[in-house]
Amino acid sequence: MKSLWDEKKAKNSLGDPLQMRVYTSRLLGQNSDLVLHGGGNTSVKAAVTNLFGETKDVLYVKGSGWDLATIEAAGFAPVKLDVLKKMAELDVLSDTDMVKNQRMAMTDPSAPNPSVEAILHAIIPFKFVDHTHTDAVVTVTNTDNGEERIREIYGDRVLIVPYIMPGFVLAKKVYEMTKGMDWSKVEAIILMSHGVFTFDDDAKVSYENMINIVTESEEYLKKHKAVVRVDKSQVVRENLLDLARIRREVSQLKGSAMLAGLMNDSVAACFSSLLDVASIATRGPLTPDHVIRTKRVPVVLGEDVCQDVQQFAEDYHAYFEKNAVGEMTCLDAAPRWGVWPEHGVVAFGSTFKEVQVIQDVTAHTMEAIQKAEKLGGWQALPEKDIFEIEYWELEQAKLKKAAAPQELQGKVVLVTGAASGIGKACAERLNAQGAVVAALDINPDIENLFSQKEILGMICDVTDEENMKACVEETVHRFGGLDIVVSNAGIFPSSESIVSVKSETWQKSLDINLSSHQVLLKQCIPYLELGVDPAVVIIASKNVPAPGPGASAYSVAKAGLTQLARVAALELGAAGIRVNVVHPNQVFDTAIWTSEVLQSRAKHYGMSVEEYKTNNILKVEISSQDVADLACAMAGPVFSKTTGAQISIDGGNERVI
Ligand SMILES: [Zn+2]
Repeated sequence: MKSLWDEKKAKNSLGDPLQMRVYTSRLLGQNSDLVLHGGGNTSVKAAVTNLFGETKDVLYVKGSGWDLATIEAAGFAPVKLDVLKKMAELDVLSDTDMVKNQRMAMTDPSAPNPSVEAILHAIIPFKFVDHTHTDAVVTVTNTDNGEERIREIYGDRVLIVPYIMPGFVLAKKVYEMTKGMDWSKVEAIILMSHGVFTFDDDAKVSYENMINIVTESEEYLKKHKAVVRVDKSQVVRENLLDLARIRREVSQLKGSAMLAGLMNDSVAACFSSLLDVASIATRGPLTPDHVIRTKRVPVVLGEDVCQDVQQFAEDYHAYFEKNAVGEMTCLDAAPRWGVWPEHGVVAFGSTFKEVQVIQDVTAHTMEAIQKAEKLGGWQALPEKDIFEIEYWELEQAKLKKAAAPQELQGKVVLVTGAASGIGKACAERLNAQGAVVAALDINPDIENLFSQKEILGMICDVTDEENMKACVEETVHRFGGLDIVVSNAGIFPSSESIVSVKSETWQKSLDINLSSHQVLLKQCIPYLELGVDPAVVIIASKNVPAPGPGASAYSVAKAGLTQLARVAALELGAAGIRVNVVHPNQVFDTAIWTSEVLQSRAKHYGMSVEEYKTNNILKVEISSQDVADLACAMAGPVFSKTTGAQISIDGGNERVI
């Protein structure tokens, strides 16, 4: 492992211990082989002067909720060093009391909660302390004879601490083991199945000690041929319907919609296809703190994926019953990842971000398992130890404080005509409510239109069935299923009377405003049938209940579309799919309302453009955003018992009322 230390950059922080701490913490955080998503922690001991000119020694330690890769000075909590050291002398201390007393000992009340490993940092008698959950060292510890191997690599240069739960008990254990120890002879502390501590009065030495320790384990693994070989010829099957089925089962267990992120690159496909994958993947996580994100084990999927997910839940409940003590709340029984032989690995999360985090953790875990297998056999901690972390009092307390999820969190939406107007507003609105969105449009700008990672822009010609099919499949592949379709793509042909309308104009309107919606439904229905509270919202027009002269090609197509929606509501109700129709009128911030069209329609009615815009009972102007709000509500729980409805959003129209 390479040191990322850069003399020039480090110079900026010289003389400021906290800034130097920020600098080397970020060096550690940048390397995913050292820490992953919020893992690891660092500290620096420094003196602070208060309002009265009194100086106090404090430990600046990483605050919970901060990530080493991006941490700032504000991410470190200053805790009085003497208080932390005194805590190490206590015989017992609950983690809840530890957190409370650490907060009371902070010199800045607005700082975040100190890391649960603060006491351990405090008792290490050096200015800088670095702690990571490095893959290489933990891989070696998680094997048969792990401790012997660590001794073989490092000799007496490290203190080896058997696995013990992080928090007060771990700090206490290290406190006792190091009483009277000559620290100058120890380069690092290696915590079995957990990670590494390095330390020094010099930030660079402490950081580079970490890199050196890790490098030695990496070299040991290489020397023992503990490397992952990827067979590029591995068969990779794809079964999108089964993927949607798995996602639905997992969502039901979770009690809310979850996304399923399929990893089917050759690394994941090879791992999933190992003959003993069901055994090696289910021994436990790489380091215990991963359990919070991944649960202890993945679901192993086979022929009957629904049955496999149910079996996982049964096993999870049994694991809870077996290990629970006192009054504990059982967490949901939904798996967070799965191994699916010949298909790859699937990560489940309520948000796109969560899926990505689990995919990262899984990628590192798969690698460590395979290396450890080659080094005498992968061993994880006993389930009791993992359970202790999963049901840690601090984690249980967090659950009680957790904010309510957004209305459409974990939902997968597909919107057509999403590059502008109503479609764009719907994509953004649905995403703001927590959904991930496939945004389709014929306009190539769609690919780069949205900055949100959760909105996948795809070029799609809705009149090309193959193109549409590919986009629907890509949506399911990316997010794991499909729950909501906003069928919006449309055109508004220029005003022509029946006698003069060209046959091409007529046909084009029917193709885009009517037939394309049928094709979209046809492609989406098999996935919607496997969706979570699935719903279709059809964007029709006020021209359906109240047509105007000069717009036959448009009105006829939209009337047909409305009829299609009514039949769809009848056909799809048995599968729980709701189909509702929105009739917008006079939404002028859309692509079809060019100023030309606007002027010609206004003229047609003998009005000024301004009069025409608010020509309704409420005298209000209707925006794309207003329609998107309605579509969003129709896709959500408020409309969960409504299907086949047609709702106008037009400011009130005498002819419709
Ligand atoms: Zn740790």
